Amino acid sequence: MALLVHKYGGTSVGNLEKIREVAKKVVDACNSGDHVVVVVSAMAGETDRLFKMAHQVSSEPSQRELDLLLSSGERISASLLAMAIQSMGYRAISFTGRQVGIITDSFHFRARIKKITADRLKEAIEKGIIPIVAGFQGISEKGDVTTFGRGGSDITAVALASALKADRCIIYKDDVDGVYTADPSVVPNARRIKKISYEEMLEMASLGAKVLQSRSVEFAAKFNVPIHVKPTFGEGEGTLVTGEDEEMEEVMVSGVISDKNQAKLTIVGVHDRPGIAADIFGKIAEEGVNVDMIIQNVSEKGLTDISFTVPKSDSKIGFRVTKNMVEKIGAQDVKLDENIAKVSIVGVGMKSHSGVAAKMFAAMAKENINIIMISTSEIKISCVIDSKYAELAVRTLHDAFSLGKQ
Ligand code: ADP
Ligand code: ASP
Ligand code: MG
Repeated sequence: MALLVHKYGGTSVGNLEKIREVAKKVVDACNSGDHVVVVVSAMAGETDRLFKMAHQVSSEPSQRELDLLLSSGERISASLLAMAIQSMGYRAISFTGRQVGIITDSFHFRARIKKITADRLKEAIEKGIIPIVAGFQGISEKGDVTTFGRGGSDITAVALASALKADRCIIYKDDVDGVYTADPSVVPNARRIKKISYEEMLEMASLGAKVLQSRSVEFAAKFNVPIHVKPTFGEGEGTLVTGEDEEMEEVMVSGVISDKNQAKLTIVGVHDRPGIAADIFGKIAEEGVNVDMIIQNVSEKGLTDISFTVPKSDSKIGFRVTKNMVEKIGAQDVKLDENIAKVSIVGVGMKSHSGVAAKMFAAMAKENINIIMISTSEIKISCVIDSKYAELAVRTLHDAFSLGKQ
């Protein structure tokens, strides 16, 4: 008898019919002898709908209120699923994050889990009741509802699997049946990856592959929780995300990812003197804005341009902060460009192969795609390009590294 965590994403519980189907699936798993703890996302589109409403009543909604509002999406799907299971004659009970003791820090919309008690889950499992947990949320030490950021129900699932020492964490998807070499909605001949290391999956997720939330992969790697991404409806084998690196596919590049959720800020005519970068990025960090790539041009006559990228959702704050600094640091101007995309290739094989970057740049050049910024790590290379070429770049790189189906 295994203890399993099942996580159903927004598309899998997107309407009442699908909720009934998921209820059947959960009941079948229990009938085959396993204990199942279920985590659900909000019904597809619900979080966006709530977010939009908040912005209709306020131009800058308070983060505390926003978190309470957004957490309700997952509560709706959790309670509906519990009712659907009950109506089949089985015992089920839904819980909020607070009720299962998910304690977080106080950073709204990007809260990190500090502790999980899971007492009520253990109690339910012992009594043979199927627990359904509303994903994406916890409670701060001050007692306020917090959420984990977009896609955060994956974090709930992995964290509960770890806290309960579950045998497996299965993340069910409706629109894809596993992790692919590229987003299959962009690259039709993308290939399903059977097994992928935490390291590569973490890079892919952080670089914008929507299929798993990056912090859930970070969590899984840290506590060694195997994640199995599988199709909700149907029988596909899916993708295993694990730490064992034997039997991994021996390839140079495993995946291609694009992310249009980036914006570029350029501070023009900055004095090239020690301490200036610390001043600028210190102020930006104070506002909680995450900076990704940074480039500073060679200075001419003591003046230089500094460009950096931030998530699009933070671009207005980033622009305001840097604009306010222009005078103080004696710079000339700040420019914001939201029409950019980051295109990346990921693969542990890069550690032992040379010429990967050259091949990437050559493939883009052949399509006349101009590279605006570059950053590299041991297992990834990212380029910032004009967003209108994002899909073309992904397909081109996918072909250049022969990632498609044979
Ligand atoms: P859920 O509703 O289950 O949370 P998501 O919408 O968060 O599902 O994630 C699935 C989406 O991720 C798919 O629509 C797919 O197009 C996209 N995606 C992006 N990159 C990849 C990839 N490399 N492999 C699989 N899916 C991907
Ligand atoms: N409902 C949240 C979102 O749409 C969290 C999740 O789906 O995992 O981002
Ligand atoms: Mg998701």
